[in-house]
Amino acid sequence: MLTAQIIKEKALELGASAVGIGDIKYFEGTNPQRDPKSILPNATCVIGFAFRVPRALYNVMESGKQFFNYTQLGTKFIDEEMSEIFLLKMGSLIENEGYDACLQRNVSNLRIKGDKTTNPELGDTYELVFVEPVEEGKPAPEIIMDFNQAARICGLGAAGKNGHVIMPKFGPYVRFVFIVTDAPLECDKPFEGTLCDNCDECVKACPGHAIAEDGTINTWQCAVYYRGAHKSNPFMTDEFLKGDPEREAVINGDKVFNRESAREMYKKIDFLPTAPTGYSPCLCGKKCDTACYKHLKEKNAL
Ligand code: SF4
Ligand code: SF4
Repeated sequence: MLTAQIIKEKALELGASAVGIGDIKYFEGTNPQRDPKSILPNATCVIGFAFRVPRALYNVMESGKQFFNYTQLGTKFIDEEMSEIFLLKMGSLIENEGYDACLQRNVSNLRIKGDKTTNPELGDTYELVFVEPVEEGKPAPEIIMDFNQAARICGLGAAGKNGHVIMPKFGPYVRFVFIVTDAPLECDKPFEGTLCDNCDECVKACPGHAIAEDGTINTWQCAVYYRGAHKSNPFMTDEFLKGDPEREAVINGDKVFNRESAREMYKKIDFLPTAPTGYSPCLCGKKCDTACYKHLKEKNAL
């Protein structure tokens, strides 16, 4: 008989750093475009799997020594390779017992209709503006779960001010995948509260001022500075925006970007290759996460 314990033991054996199981009842009231029940109407639970991103990948960015390894291993490899193989194996385990297993990896470069945000990690993101439901009363494809909500319901952690889920032990250095299933598994309690104490270290650390004090995040602003438009980027040269009257405002992080101006700016930012992976090099050093991790470590919250 398939049990929560079997799932958890197998997941840890296959490389997950933590596992939690969330009762489907806690998704009640979720936007149908993001609701796991839109994916599997008879779902009983959502299984959440966390993958730690090694601390050293952030540390070497902080010291200005290496950036490409974070981009390749900390984002692309975990989301594109490791989690996919992992999900397929876990899905087989569940389906062999006669249940459905709807595998949910990070849909990095798609946004549901109406979601105007972007993902700074990708070359660009695509909003599904042309989709329509196949019949009245059904949500339009793609259904894209809210991973922050799911991580909380699975008891793994809760989002902090910078929008990233903070977990005990790993802080914000984690990524997630999920399985929506009709298997009758024993569920964990949702994560209560949050480890975020509103210290604002992430707000202060972002070179592009992408996080407001109230926690609003301008993802387009983030995307420009994630790519290294700030003078703190060690690959920055005098040639960047040479002759542009806005150069100083940009490299000081004072210019405010929106979708259009950010996309224009992408064309001028070319410090490290994006090809062949489609993932943008992280040249802000993920300072928001590093500041958060340090702060929470110092107060023994992790
Ligand atoms: S530090 Fe980097 S990843 Fe964090 S909000 Fe700023 S630009 Fe985005
Ligand atoms: S740095 Fe402080 S305010 Fe920002 S997410 Fe972490 S704990 Fe919250």
